[in-house]
Amino acid sequence: MEKIVYLSIGANQGHKLKTISEALNLIAKEIGSIQAISNFYESAPLGFESKNQFLNICISVSTNLSPTNLLLKTQIIEQQLGRKKKGPNYEDRTIDLDIIYYENWIINLPELTVPHPLLSNRKFVLLPLNDIAPLFLHPILNLNTKELIRQSNDKSSLKRIDYKYIGNENKI
Ligand code: ADP
Ligand code: MG
Repeated sequence: MEKIVYLSIGANQGHKLKTISEALNLIAKEIGSIQAISNFYESAPLGFESKNQFLNICISVSTNLSPTNLLLKTQIIEQQLGRKKKGPNYEDRTIDLDIIYYENWIINLPELTVPHPLLSNRKFVLLPLNDIAPLFLHPILNLNTKELIRQSNDKSSLKRIDYKYIGNENKI
């Protein structure tokens, strides 16, 4: 049975739009068919200092992968797109793929927490998610995306970027 999953994709190094486009191609090939793609948003790094803005989107994907296999695939794609080995802290990265929701499942494994634990405090996840799943209910907090945005204490402002994914040829 295919499962609907929501992924957050962020990049803040290199040709960000190109990297995200390549990530979408790899996701479609390796994970499953992409159902929806949010607008693109630019955000300042949260939790660490960097001059590089992030480019963020959320997508929904229909997949046959189990949660742990989905995590493994996203990590392989991160590596394929040149993400370096992580240090102990937040840092610049070419690409970050996070699992936000896996259906309405609650998963607590050492390597995987779903819903993503920082979701409700991250505007750069909530705003794009709101484009594609405004009424999706957070299975623990019992709030939909709109309500999560209203009660979020992340005051950072995001800029909506005026383009949509249209394939490989995009230039930023
Ligand atoms: P972050 O996404 O917080 O910036 P990383 O991408 O380096 O940090 O992820 C660190 C670890 O988070 C990964 O090794 C992974 O095992 C774990 N993890 C736990 N829950 C999730 C999730 N829902 N999505 C992605 N990674 C997760
Ligand atoms: Mg991550």
